[in-house]
Amino acid sequence: MAEIIDGKMLSKKIREQLKNEVEKENLHPKLAVVLVGNDEASKIYIKNKSKACNDIGIAFEEYLLPEDTSMDELLDLIKKLNKNEEITGILLQSPLPKHLDIKIAFETIDPKKDVDGFNPINIGRLEINDKAFVSCTPMGVIKMLEEYNVEIEGKTAVVIGRSNIVGKPLIQLLLNKNATVIVTHSKTKDLEKYTKQADILVSAIGKPKYITGKMVKEGVVVIDVGINRVEGSKVIVGDVDYKDVSKKASYITPVPGGVGPMTITMLMANIVEAAKQSKNN
Ligand code: NAD
Repeated sequence: MAEIIDGKMLSKKIREQLKNEVEKENLHPKLAVVLVGNDEASKIYIKNKSKACNDIGIAFEEYLLPEDTSMDELLDLIKKLNKNEEITGILLQSPLPKHLDIKIAFETIDPKKDVDGFNPINIGRLEINDKAFVSCTPMGVIKMLEEYNVEIEGKTAVVIGRSNIVGKPLIQLLLNKNATVIVTHSKTKDLEKYTKQADILVSAIGKPKYITGKMVKEGVVVIDVGINRVEGSKVIVGDVDYKDVSKKASYITPVPGGVGPMTITMLMANIVEAAKQSKNN
């Protein structure tokens, strides 16, 4: 039976460490969150982030813009926040209304305040294994592996999914840690052929219980990024058939209580790091 990688517990520990760091080093982290429009899910995410900030001692400022905000208005706000010395981190909540170009918006955020790691400068730095702000979910995945002493170097890591915010940065992080990385996606033929090779398997697809026991080898370490709502209920499940895969895995993350809490925790870590860098500059 697999050992559970407890993201909730680990998050609690790291958030405590961050809180101490903010106090001891007399940091003044301040996050500006920009939301355009009325996306209900975004509002919930922001509320969770605001609570996490509050617990750690990160000041939090919300900028709620109306749905019909123009691109110029959004960019003006981002530029104003870039210049504001009190603001040490900027987060632009996605999705944006369709008439706005999110790529340009991310490009406009000062890379030093880009705590989500979505500015192409940070993406490029990650690519060349330079110091960078990195997307929080993949960071959380690596942190979990490290905290549970899962060796990455020389291991075969199979990543399912190649999105810009999860799959692609994760591939790079694993590569930087000397894993042999196999990338699979929606056009991959015979997925099982690859998943069976994995020493470390990370699934970020968005399909409930898609990965079953017969698709993995004995002793695999499984990280389930997927968040899927079971139709007609409030129950959330991952991409992995937890019960089935647990029988073969050596380690596994639950959903909920795995990668989810770690994502917000890594955002907090990035915000504290940005504040530290701004203090030292
Ligand atoms: P996305 O839709 O942008 O990407 C999904 C990826 O899965 C694509 O690259 C696609 O090629 C691949 N894919 C789809 N069907 C596949 C199949 N049958 N076989 C192999 N690959 C397939 O999604 P995303 O933003 O990367 O998120 C993926 C999942 O992770 C979602 O369930 C999302 O809710 C969840 N997520 C969780 C967190 C967290 O904090 N835990 C954060 C971000 C995303």
